Amino acid sequence: MAALAAGEARILSGGTDFYPALGDRVVRGPVVDVSGLGELRGVSSDAGYFRIGGLTTWSEIIRTPLPCCFDALKSAAREVGGVQIQNRGTVAGNLCNASPAADGVPPLMALDAEVELVSKVGVRRIPVADFIVGNRKTQRKADELLTAVLVPRALENAASTFVKLGARRYLVISISMVAVVVKLSDDERVSDRKVLEARVAVGSCSAVARRLRALESDLIGASVRDGLGDVVRQEHLAPLSPIDDVRATAEYRMDASLRLVQRALKSCVEKG
Ligand SMILES: Cc1cc2nc3c(=O)[nH]c(=O)nc-3n(C[C@H](O)[C@H](O)[C@H](O)COP(=O)(O)OP(=O)(O)OC[C@H]3O[C@@H](n4cnc5c(N)ncnc54)[C@H](O)[C@@H]3O)c2cc1C
Repeated sequence: MAALAAGEARILSGGTDFYPALGDRVVRGPVVDVSGLGELRGVSSDAGYFRIGGLTTWSEIIRTPLPCCFDALKSAAREVGGVQIQNRGTVAGNLCNASPAADGVPPLMALDAEVELVSKVGVRRIPVADFIVGNRKTQRKADELLTAVLVPRALENAASTFVKLGARRYLVISISMVAVVVKLSDDERVSDRKVLEARVAVGSCSAVARRLRALESDLIGASVRDGLGDVVRQEHLAPLSPIDDVRATAEYRMDASLRLVQRALKSCVEKG
């Protein structure tokens, strides 16, 4: 903390975004390598929250037994690069790098997660949805370390799903990705169940992943018998603002996102 407070130092965790971003350049200026801080790894819980240490790697997320609301985050973890990247890359690095295509962001947004930022002067918490403010831009101040991600326990037993579309199946940057958390009523017959709460987040289709709040409220009360996919309409994607790039056109991204949201909802119902 003192080294960060002195100014100008850059933080290094797994290095899987840090080094590629340098390209051919060498590291200049002080670097605070936090990768050895065991206290910031692993998942714990108290009465109100699950606490994911900032330096928890994607492999650790996959291996840790967690309730079903984390299924989407685990699926996203399996999609981050290959196993070598999952062994080094951390949750904090993914959030602080703030790529529009960061796979960890939609599942954490759908869980209403908050980040904990610590500096020499204190601790503050910000919802993930507010922490990332643009392409590679966050609210982190230069002297702050992201020490943990906090997930409220409110929906811990809700079903969750993550679906990612890329140009090929593995080792790919997302064209669109969707994370969904759905809590259904506990009627005995699955077909009688109705949506009590729903959260839907879409990534790679705007500078910052977005929650589809209008869809979330339209889903409340929707019945499994009628199928949740039919609730989704093009207007629900209004918060998205995809761009044309080498991976896909904006039009294709919108169309694909609609179908991914439908697919994710269907899969959640089958699980839950
Ligand atoms: C081959 C390859 C494939 C990849 N595939 C994917 C993919 O499919 N999906 C995906 O989402 N990502 C992918 N990535 C990106 C990367 O692996 C992830 O974003 C990873 O989670 C980054 O974590 P890290 O610990 O390596 O971060 P680092 O590289 O160490 O840091 C990234 C940024 O975050 C800052 N930072 C790191 N930790 C902290 C902290 N605790 N507090 C404050 N700031 C911090 C650093 O200063 C830096 O700016 C890939 C990378 C590579 C090289």
